[in-house]
Amino acid sequence: MPEEDFADIRRSVAALCAGFPGEYWRELDRERQYPSAFVGALTEAGFLAALIPEDYGGSGLPLAAAAAILEEIQASGCNGGACHAQMYTMGTILRHGSEAQKQAWLPGIASGALRLQAFGVTEPTSGTDTLSIATTAVRHGDRFVVNGQKVWTSRAEHSDLMILLARTTPKEQVVRRGDGLSVFVVDLREAVGKGVTIRPIRAMLNHATTEVFFDDLEIPAENLIGQQDKGFRYILDGMNAERILIAGECVGDARWFIDKATAYAGERVVFGRPIGRNQGIQFPIARAYADMRAAKLMVREAASLFDSGQPCGAEANMAKLLAADASWKAADMCLQTHGGFGFAEDYDVERKFRETRLYQVAPISTNLILAYLGEHVLGLPRSY
Ligand SMILES: Cc1cc2nc3c(=O)[nH]c(=O)nc-3n(C[C@H](O)[C@H](O)[C@H](O)COP(=O)(O)OP(=O)(O)OC[C@H]3O[C@@H](n4cnc5c(N)ncnc54)[C@H](O)[C@@H]3O)c2cc1C
Repeated sequence: MPEEDFADIRRSVAALCAGFPGEYWRELDRERQYPSAFVGALTEAGFLAALIPEDYGGSGLPLAAAAAILEEIQASGCNGGACHAQMYTMGTILRHGSEAQKQAWLPGIASGALRLQAFGVTEPTSGTDTLSIATTAVRHGDRFVVNGQKVWTSRAEHSDLMILLARTTPKEQVVRRGDGLSVFVVDLREAVGKGVTIRPIRAMLNHATTEVFFDDLEIPAENLIGQQDKGFRYILDGMNAERILIAGECVGDARWFIDKATAYAGERVVFGRPIGRNQGIQFPIARAYADMRAAKLMVREAASLFDSGQPCGAEANMAKLLAADASWKAADMCLQTHGGFGFAEDYDVERKFRETRLYQVAPISTNLILAYLGEHVLGLPRSY
């Protein structure tokens, strides 16, 4: 491969990740435990504060560097999904919060003293149709009172703060379709047991995901981010960054599968020769490599547009689409290369296979990216 961008950062991340080998993740996966030691080490090293400006205690790195950090985490066999939200969820506060809100929260998030890992958007009845969310926040003097439910709110049990999207004006009363939703910061340390109940969801992968119930939760009005009723736009604003970072993770996963498959294909001898000598094994690995490199180029292009302040919706979406496809195809190839051993826990392939499958669905499903490209890039009629 040509010289990598952010080579020093990549080396440091890889060195840190070497301390968290397969056994560490296997054990947690079995018990569905949160990787606290890993997240603590990343925080301590400052990697999760990469995108927070120096003025607020972070390192003020470009998005391309953050994508490189997540790529290396995944390529090392670790799982950045456990904490990637700490990197970018703060973007809503950074871009749309008041100076007082930034001063109140960002330095703590940068140091790790405050964990902002939870992002409550998805609801059971509305799914992908975010504008149909039913959780409401009603203003009473200097407070908002929240009622409703979120689902798949990952890491809520391991987070001090949550970014919450709720309806503040009924859908039928808004003038513009995207209006009527607002963004709040919920302090979970105060809220749990006093209007918030969190229930873990046992899922196919170890992702600390939960459902969250709101029953007359009171939030101080000062925790409203930006303008009331304009929250949907603030959430959309953060999506390009999120797509690019997740795409970086997918490229890292694809690299891990390709490395693992290549090593196994070289050493596993069947019919008196390494299985990698058979084109039926070698070519799928080569194809996965080409797909990974192509996806990586799109991630780089999207990040470079983002970092220079140019529109990057199409590229961010394509990066996520291509990288998620590359990682999923590489996962399937890696499992096939390992034959029966691909199913054995000890090889880590089945765990990573389950983990990387997520990216076809979350944080945005493949169909919705295709719908975006069809409508906004190709000018075709809106399909939904
Ligand atoms: C492990 C995990 C962690 C998650 N973490 C979070 C989190 O932290 N915070 C959060 O807010 N959400 C989170 N999510 C939710 C995730 O973003 C949603 O699952 C995802 O956006 C899809 O929504 P849904 O599951 O309701 O699917 P649905 O909206 O019900 O869609 C089901 C299927 O139908 C397809 N579909 C729906 N409408 C259309 C259409 N018009 N055209 C074509 N296809 C369509 C979708 O692509 C999908 O394949 C998480 C999900 C998982 C599984």
